[in-house]
Amino acid sequence: MKYDYLIVGAGLYGAVFAQKKTETGKKCLVIDRRGHIAGNIYSRKMEGIDVHMYGPHIFHTDQEKVWEYVTRFTKFNHFTYCPVANYKGELYNLPFNMNTFTKMWPDVKTPEQAREKIRVQIDAAGIKEPKNLEEQAISLVGTDIYEKLIKGYTEKQWGRACTELPAFIIKRLPVRWTYDNNYFNHPYQGIPLDGYTEMVKRMLEGVEVWLGVDYLDQKDELRQQAETVIYTGAMDEYFDYCYGELQYRSLQFETETLDMPNFQGVAGMNYTDCDHPYTRIIEHKHFLFGAGNPDKTVITKEYPAEWSRGEEPYYPINNERNAAVYKKYRELAGREKNLRFGGRLGTYRYMDMDQVILQALEDAER
Ligand code: UDP
Repeated sequence: MKYDYLIVGAGLYGAVFAQKKTETGKKCLVIDRRGHIAGNIYSRKMEGIDVHMYGPHIFHTDQEKVWEYVTRFTKFNHFTYCPVANYKGELYNLPFNMNTFTKMWPDVKTPEQAREKIRVQIDAAGIKEPKNLEEQAISLVGTDIYEKLIKGYTEKQWGRACTELPAFIIKRLPVRWTYDNNYFNHPYQGIPLDGYTEMVKRMLEGVEVWLGVDYLDQKDELRQQAETVIYTGAMDEYFDYCYGELQYRSLQFETETLDMPNFQGVAGMNYTDCDHPYTRIIEHKHFLFGAGNPDKTVITKEYPAEWSRGEEPYYPINNERNAAVYKKYRELAGREKNLRFGGRLGTYRYMDMDQVILQALEDAER
């Protein structure tokens, strides 16, 4: 065997795992079916602007250990994500905070008045125990915010009615009684100064990397290369869908360069109505405070899409059916010798970047 580890997938999990193992003297081979490293955090320069090719990624964490680790490979700027919601041309700050409330209800001036406004709407809705996303959202922020800032966005994002979606999806979003537009509560936040791809490239220094190689096409030969295989692709695909498909939500991106210095004045604008088919427009130059060609800008429209085989899987759809199917695949995986699954796809979990890094660090240490 030439290598100790064959790591399938050059994304964040694969790169961190390979880096940690290489550091302790192990020999790693990383392969990826795509023609580039960095998985879904891959970014590349257009007009001198670092463009997030698979959706916007804002690094944030409250884990000291993760922050210490990533800052070995890149410096971060002081970007904080403060997206704006566009509902039929009305603009509101996100996440839901005093800026949102005072714009939504001009008679509201204080946190107390905002709470009272929302309380009256919650009482009128008469929901005792929220059974779905709609009821959960209304019991959190009342009907006005639900109708204007949650309903349309969520139904586009997930392709089904809010009454058919689990309540927990919405719990990710903070509600604040201060004028604070920072989407994340974590103490460490920022964008790598020279881009995510450079960061991953540095993690992979000294590691053998083969691109454009599909493990599933050459399983038998590749398996001979290493003692242990770390697989970061989708578990259902690995097992040839023998228990059926795990379901995902997919995304499609439409990126264009515009002949203007500034299109929307903010990195992320969410389109929360049903009039626009996309959920958001990302204007990449604002992640790096306007770096790049001052006369041009690059924007990406993000369209949620149904997933079917061959499409990129993005969000796992967490429901009972998928949990049961995933459990069966896990049992099967447990029976394979010298094979481990990791990362967002390998563990069928929607994870933020810091959670992926932590998972890879802990798996590598184990
Ligand atoms: N959401 C919403 N309106 C928004 C942004 C988010 O209703 O303008 C809801 C939506 O249901 C979404 C969930 O909040 O699925 C989580 O959003 P988040 O921004 O955390 O999702 P991500 O950007 O990670 O896909």
